[in-house]
Amino acid sequence: MNTNNDCLFCHLIRGELPTYRVYEDDNFIVMLTIHPGNPGHVLVVTKEHIASFYDVEDTLYTPLMLLVKRMALAINAMFQPLQVVMETAGIGNRHVHVHVLPVYSLYDRVPQEVQEQQETHSPAEEDLVEVAQHFAGYLATHPS
Ligand SMILES: [Zn+2]
Repeated sequence: MNTNNDCLFCHLIRGELPTYRVYEDDNFIVMLTIHPGNPGHVLVVTKEHIASFYDVEDTLYTPLMLLVKRMALAINAMFQPLQVVMETAGIGNRHVHVHVLPVYSLYDRVPQEVQEQQETHSPAEEDLVEVAQHFAGYLATHPS
């Protein structure tokens, strides 16, 4: 299995650092994050060192998302939040990990001032049309 000695998650997966594992199978580990947004915030992590969610092989992608869904259902039943959300960022640790966490209000994950700033600064309609057309052109010439 491909791992990376410079990667925090690879060290966690190999058991070289303490973790709070809640689930493990051949391909994935689910662990509590030590910086939870709310109690019940877990990370679904591939055992293999893969940098980004869009680099995950198709055959592993569906099991990854099914495990994310399973964890979301567990969190929903256990913590009864307003909603369960999933996030992938990967700007810091470049190892696939999907955050799955309960939220209890609209601004649990996005601060109100950021949300309001986005809502008050909409691009012009022609800019949105241009970006949408850019996507349409790209996707038409790059089939999956
Ligand atoms: Zn890694």
